[in-house]
Amino acid sequence: MKQWYMVIDVATCQDCNSCLMACKDEHVDNEWPDYTEAQPRRGHYWIDVHRHERGQYPRIDVSFRPTPCQHCEDAPCIKAGDGAVRRRKDGIVMIDPERARGNQDLLTSCPYGAIFWNSEKKIAQKCTMCAHLLDSENWLPGVPRCVHNCPTGSLKMVNVEQAEMNKIVEAESLTVLRPELRTKPHVFYKNLHLCEKNFISAGVLIDEDCFEGATVTLKSHGTVCAMEATNCFGDFKFDGLDNGEYVIEIDAGGITVSETVKIDNKSLNLGFIRL
Ligand code: SF4
Ligand code: SF4
Ligand code: SF4
Repeated sequence: MKQWYMVIDVATCQDCNSCLMACKDEHVDNEWPDYTEAQPRRGHYWIDVHRHERGQYPRIDVSFRPTPCQHCEDAPCIKAGDGAVRRRKDGIVMIDPERARGNQDLLTSCPYGAIFWNSEKKIAQKCTMCAHLLDSENWLPGVPRCVHNCPTGSLKMVNVEQAEMNKIVEAESLTVLRPELRTKPHVFYKNLHLCEKNFISAGVLIDEDCFEGATVTLKSHGTVCAMEATNCFGDFKFDGLDNGEYVIEIDAGGITVSETVKIDNKSLNLGFIRL
């Protein structure tokens, strides 16, 4: 059977929070019988945009990771819910408000922090993937409100069989949050390295002038990982790096230098390298 998946591109998200506003517009003060009760006006972030800063001034970047419920296939919340949380055949994980009422422990069962407590109604609530809209014939097919409202197209829905999704994941190099948990999320990310991995960046100067076109080679354990040419500011940047020791070799028109650097959970601005 076809399943619903959400694909989120970290590279294009601008932290405008239009997705969150649309979610509130759809769910605050609105009851969707058989789906969920109304979301409280404050305190709930059914799609939460996390901010990640990397590097040191002036070579820095900031990325944003929208984070709704991951609609996990092996969802810890289902195990903790004692029948109050279920996974629909189309992959959407739903909390039954009646059966979940009073069970605040559901919040700690989610390793992604995606469940929120409605203190007035005494229920745990979260993103429903806008299942009431996906099931409706009176709304755009396959478009939750947050997806509809995203001005950069960073959020996309996919409705395919699992085998087809596996091909998309492979072709688009999609990844999931915290794969070590083995929860099998139905939310996939593009460019998640912008939040989870690191970069090495620097500028190359010769006689205090920016040197464009120097060949920079990045090696790890003697193997070439990447090569690039410096830009018109003399800058280079290698991104998506794991922790470990790297060697950077620079060849600027025959003048060469090599430097060993270590990534330890932090992106590195090496400043200017003078040849
Ligand atoms: S609406 Fe789109 S661009 Fe804006 S924060 Fe949400 S996902 Fe990012
Ligand atoms: S992200 Fe959390 S709330 Fe959503 S399905 Fe997974 S465990 Fe449950
Ligand atoms: S899919 Fe619907 S419920 Fe989930 S975050 Fe988007 S707007 Fe909110």
